[in-house]
Amino acid sequence: MLVVMKAHATDEQVRGVCEKIEQLGYRAHAMPGAQRTAIGITGNKGEVEQGTLEEMAGVQEVIRVSKPYKLVSRDIKEDNTVIRFAETAATIGGSGLAIVAGPCAIESREQAFAVAERVHRAGAQFFRGGAYKPRTSPYSFQGLGEEGLRIMGEIRRQYGMKIITEAIDNESLDLVEEYADVIQIGARNMQNFSLLKRAGRAKKPVLLKRGMSATLEEFLMAAEYILSEGNYNVALCERGVRTFADHTRNTLDLSLIPAVQRLSHLPILVDPSHGTGKRNKVTPLSRAAVAVGADGLMVEVHNQPDQAMSDGPQSLFPHQFDDLMTQVRQIAAVVGRTVPGIGVRETAGAVAK
Ligand code: PEP
Ligand code: MN
Repeated sequence: MLVVMKAHATDEQVRGVCEKIEQLGYRAHAMPGAQRTAIGITGNKGEVEQGTLEEMAGVQEVIRVSKPYKLVSRDIKEDNTVIRFAETAATIGGSGLAIVAGPCAIESREQAFAVAERVHRAGAQFFRGGAYKPRTSPYSFQGLGEEGLRIMGEIRRQYGMKIITEAIDNESLDLVEEYADVIQIGARNMQNFSLLKRAGRAKKPVLLKRGMSATLEEFLMAAEYILSEGNYNVALCERGVRTFADHTRNTLDLSLIPAVQRLSHLPILVDPSHGTGKRNKVTPLSRAAVAVGADGLMVEVHNQPDQAMSDGPQSLFPHQFDDLMTQVRQIAAVVGRTVPGIGVRETAGAVAK
């Protein structure tokens, strides 16, 4: 059920409707939009008694939502969600593309800083790096844990980039929430419903990656879990799905981008690194992702990919990331988007002076 408020409804009227919904034993989610506020009702087993709400001051109409997901849907919020952060103009969603770059895993302070320095100089506003790695083999490198988070905290202080890192369970989520700016939920945990609910109670935005065989509806329902707990700052990320293809690690499903944007107000990023698994395909698919309308990119970069402890073959050398950014800026301009950041050329000029 969805309560659509009149265009000029006051804050007090919105509050009144929310209070009524809570009194009836449900949960109210007020979603302010450019034109009007809509209030989603969750926690109801069956139909909510429409009449009471319809008669309240400021209410335009009460409508039934036929889709299984409500809060992620454009029915409740027509305009795009833009995730904002303190002390930076960078956003996720909005006209500027969010560029997330960094190594697969934080391996050492030296490695993390070497990569951070380069991706920052190339214009990335978000730094990624795993401190908790969900690995296929229990014998593979599992990440540095809290030490990795501390290193990323230093990188934030040094370069001003916002930190995105994965939480793999409730325990690591507590720590990631403390240290990071965005909590990543990985493909393998897309349907870990207790973890999604915990992320929904977190005070930080969440980047939710698509499960490797998840349908569009399953993906949106996973995001719905997070919003239903009250965290509306959620971004999605397409990272490739399993198919019969053997020329890539996964098949990057770029058709998902317009499909999501049609149904949902949430921003959606593309990860061409896990999406292809091969360095030589990362830049072409980054161009394609921006062309198709993605709200940003997540790219793995390593200072010594051949010695990386995970995902070396798909990690770009820093100079390849410079090229990627140059190309992506050009494509972005064609589709009316911008790539904020200082850019390689400006920095090189500044250094030359
Ligand atoms: C990652 O981004 O580090 C990662 C493990 O990706 P995914 O969950 O998409 O496999
Ligand atoms: Mn990786």
